[in-house]
Amino acid sequence: MKAKKSAIIYLLIAAFVFASSSFNSEILYADVAVPETINIGLSFGQSQANLFTLGSETGMNILVHEKGSYKNLLDMTGPNYIKVRRDEYYNILNGKENEINYVRAAKYEGEVIGPYHIQIGEVYTDSEAALQVIKQLSSITPSVFLAYEGGWKVWSQLYLDESECLQQIKVMKKEASDINYSVIYPDKKRIQIIDGTTGKLMLLINSEEKIKIMPKEAKGKVSSLEYKGKKYRGDMIVQSLPESNITLINELSFDQYLYSVVPSEMPASWHMEALKAQAVAARNYALVTMGKHNAHGFDLCSTEHCQAYNGLAQEKESSTEAVNATKGQVITYNGALISAFFHSSSGGHTEDSENVWGTKTDYIRGVEDKFCLGSPYDNWTVELNRAEIKEKLAENGIDLGEISDIRILECSKYGRVTKLEIKGSKETRVFEKEKIRTVLGTRMLKSIWYDLKTDADIFVRGSMIGSSEPGRTSNMHVVSASGKTIVKGIKNKISVKGMNSAKAYNVIPDKYTFDGKGFGHGLGMSQYGAKGMAEAGYNYEEILEHYYQNSRVQ
Ligand SMILES: [Zn+2]
Repeated sequence: MKAKKSAIIYLLIAAFVFASSSFNSEILYADVAVPETINIGLSFGQSQANLFTLGSETGMNILVHEKGSYKNLLDMTGPNYIKVRRDEYYNILNGKENEINYVRAAKYEGEVIGPYHIQIGEVYTDSEAALQVIKQLSSITPSVFLAYEGGWKVWSQLYLDESECLQQIKVMKKEASDINYSVIYPDKKRIQIIDGTTGKLMLLINSEEKIKIMPKEAKGKVSSLEYKGKKYRGDMIVQSLPESNITLINELSFDQYLYSVVPSEMPASWHMEALKAQAVAARNYALVTMGKHNAHGFDLCSTEHCQAYNGLAQEKESSTEAVNATKGQVITYNGALISAFFHSSSGGHTEDSENVWGTKTDYIRGVEDKFCLGSPYDNWTVELNRAEIKEKLAENGIDLGEISDIRILECSKYGRVTKLEIKGSKETRVFEKEKIRTVLGTRMLKSIWYDLKTDADIFVRGSMIGSSEPGRTSNMHVVSASGKTIVKGIKNKISVKGMNSAKAYNVIPDKYTFDGKGFGHGLGMSQYGAKGMAEAGYNYEEILEHYYQNSRVQ
């Protein structure tokens, strides 16, 4: 850590500052420990596949967590891959295997294998003893494999049902009558590890114990494991957790994780100081959000739910340099890690946190962001008609009926819309802060800093010369000889006569035009702003301390 000094010195400084200045007593430094490794969930939950492969160009070791530490079970040299699948029924046809709901009477094309097995002998105290037995047996019965289920065991074959097992036990008893044989019945929690090249089942495990797959190191190569066409640094952990299909976790060093994450958040071609600022913000973000998936057995997932992580292929030289140059550095406020929110472009001014997400955070205050101007998102326009808006609302389970009007009720002092009213034939609802972006789509409505116009807006010349106030025809009255009536129009149109010609206006707006600025929630660091500041000569600490008010890089 950059600013690691003894606590006494800080106490002295704090005492000095407190004595000499009446307004600034915060000189606290946090003792933040960045963990060595991080665990990223690549596959978990019910929706995930129960069959996948893991490959390595350099070979791999398979370890099992046993009695508090990892034990190397299997050694695979050279380019190789393993298949990980649930212990289930499979139909193998033309080299493809599909999990099936096995029906005994049904006829299957190709081979069918099942989740019944035979246990040979007793329970062994450790994996070595069981592996010794497998070595002795494999010359006689090649289909034996190592199993872990309440202890180490030796199992055989992938039978379809109990009767197949009993029949086979009879045969085995004739050959060796002094050994105990028992039928193993199906259990969906079991996981098989198969040698991809030979097709041999190597390990079957039924426990929450972790199986670790480590790629072998090779000179001149970054060792990695391939999963679903993507290469990952570090190790893979396979686990059978309750309420979940097979869980696959990538365990790697914290910085290696950032090597991949930083360039997917900010183009690696951007200025080094901007990349460094992003590296520190990403480190903070990961540290603060870690633990989101404790219940699933890992720290963060690999999707945007936590932070998009796509492994080795994302890495770029410059962003890796930025991560290394800021090793262990974090941003703190009053001695605690901050939630380092960042966004693409503020449009010229960032926002106070409470105007976007509801909670007030002292270090997320609106700041001037002139350096972000010139980004592709300085100004944008989105046009939506009322049918499209109705549809977007419906997608979010909101039914206000036919939309008759939308208007801005309240803005923050910097101009972001904090209250937007949508009037419908059934209901009128006020959407506060960021809510409207989640409804219309955060890419559609790029920010909540916008002006709203409709095709029913009429500018009426006011009493002051030159001033004109926009109004909606639906709110206007016509004063005639017969009294005051609301404008209804004919087929939703009214004609307004000007000096030389008449123009038709909608009474109920059909088209809504959002003229906006910036892209993102507008809180904390704007990435285009960081780029602009870096290009103007500011360093990453100045950039971060600008966007996160009164915070410190340490
Ligand atoms: Zn997540």
